[in-house]
Amino acid sequence: MKIAIDGPAGAGKSAAAKAAAKALGFIYVDTGALYRGIALYVVRKGKNPSSIEEVVPLLAEIRIEMRHIDGEQHIFLNDEDVSELIRMEHVSVAASGVSAIPAVRDFLFDMQKEIAEKNNVVMDGRDIGTVVLPDAELKIFLTAKPEIRAERRVKQLAEKGVFASYEDVLEEVVQRDYNDSNRDFRPLKLAEDGILLDNSEYSLDETIEKIISLAKERGA
Ligand code: C5P
Repeated sequence: MKIAIDGPAGAGKSAAAKAAAKALGFIYVDTGALYRGIALYVVRKGKNPSSIEEVVPLLAEIRIEMRHIDGEQHIFLNDEDVSELIRMEHVSVAASGVSAIPAVRDFLFDMQKEIAEKNNVVMDGRDIGTVVLPDAELKIFLTAKPEIRAERRVKQLAEKGVFASYEDVLEEVVQRDYNDSNRDFRPLKLAEDGILLDNSEYSLDETIEKIISLAKERGA
């Protein structure tokens, strides 16, 4: 069974998808981490993440792998575990840049498909229900008001010991949503058969419960 969870930054997709996957006995796949891995490589090379000419030649040098260690997803970039490094804010912005490049999306497409073919998955991202897993049994578009998403992100970063101002994070969240929803190639949008779930008023636990009950209705 395949469950696709798409939506803008900071809607709580990863926390909710991860917990729902655990409860259902499914594998959780955070596809944003793959884009972040490529973004990290591009940034380290000093190249512009939004430039097709600068990014595409680098793809031949990049090997991204997803490994599950003690139930946690780890991302390896050319054999280096970059799971923590890819969470930096400048990498988030760079990920949004590289993700608009069709060759980057194609580069990661097969990998995402393959994982979903071999496992029961809860996969989160931006185009999972629309492009990567159009046959998913359950497609959720998880969102919340931008102010709430920014607040949650500030808190999440603080828990990791990273201080970020609410204003900066709000600006970054709004900018990333704009980029992700307005790119020409496979933008973030609600799938025709997707369920829109606005969790502005929900706690994380309520969001998880909702996803689990929708999954159970579909035979999970
Ligand atoms: O989900 P996360 O915030 O980690 O994603 C980082 C960036 O990667 C997003 O802003 C988006 O531009 C891109 N992305 C994407 N398609 C996905 C997952 C992430 O374009 N399936």
